[in-house]
Amino acid sequence: MPAKIVDGKALAARIRTQLAADAAILTAKGTKPGLAVVLVGDDPASQVYVRNKTKALADAGFACFDHKLPADTAESTLLELVARLNRDPVVDGILVQLPLPKQIDSKRVLLAIDPNKDVDGFHPENLGRLLIGEPRFIACTPYGVMKLIEEAGTEVKGATAVVVGRSNIVGKPVAVLLTAADATVTICHSRTKDLPAVIATADILVAAIGRAEMIKGAWIKPGATVIDVGTNKRADGKLVGDVEFATAVERAGAITPVPGGVGPMTITMLLANTLESARRRAGA
Ligand code: NAP
Repeated sequence: MPAKIVDGKALAARIRTQLAADAAILTAKGTKPGLAVVLVGDDPASQVYVRNKTKALADAGFACFDHKLPADTAESTLLELVARLNRDPVVDGILVQLPLPKQIDSKRVLLAIDPNKDVDGFHPENLGRLLIGEPRFIACTPYGVMKLIEEAGTEVKGATAVVVGRSNIVGKPVAVLLTAADATVTICHSRTKDLPAVIATADILVAAIGRAEMIKGAWIKPGATVIDVGTNKRADGKLVGDVEFATAVERAGAITPVPGGVGPMTITMLLANTLESARRRAGA
């Protein structure tokens, strides 16, 4: 039987309706959730991401403070803007779109964001808090991955989970969240020996690699839940995940599509984190 398709678009729409309702209540009480979105330069992909985020914010009734800076912006200018946004009481969250132009040290900029406004969850303090089980903001993509596993109806407690990818923004936090939810977790990466054999053990597989259709259906344990974080452009221009969907859907129990799986959830969890920050501001 083909896998259940875990529809991230539909789940995201449901969560956003709830977030919009909650934001309206908070706004009526005098605290409108607000996110500052900073874009430096004219990278076309970043422009699309920022446009999508801005639209999602407006649709949910959040305030969006847009800051577009030229590609030759000095690091000191960007740091001054971040400092100003840190102090601005109506700004609940600050998002600096990556990648930044090469004259700017991204690490320095991310460190400059007040951890209480780091709704992306990338600041070392927030990643550290996640590690010790006291999260403030959970990075948006990992947060979305956990919501999708929940939506699939998969029992995490006691499950064997395999995460392929060990980046600080996806693989590692996903592994921490799965561990906190009582899964037994293996993290794989480019030096893992016999990746298919490790993947074959997974009741839950999360792929965050960035290689088009690398994981084949035959590697997947029958009935497994597969969350595909990868977004890759194939040579023919088609957007595909890290998992070969056509073969995986025949073996998995549940699987997220690309597009329409993890992507819509990432922006949704950004709104959720911004709302949470606004609630803290309101003391609610
Ligand atoms: P990244 O920083 O490039 O990390 C990729 C990871 O994959 C690394 O840990 C790397 O191992 C591992 N890897 C590479 N080749 C491998 C191989 N042949 N076998 C096993 N592991 C391998 O990427 P990322 O930022 O985590 O993103 C991963 C993917 O998710 C990308 O396609 C990205 O576009 C996508 N993404 C999507 C969303 C969304 O909202 N949908 C959000 C974020 C990211 P090493 O550590 O050994 O190099």
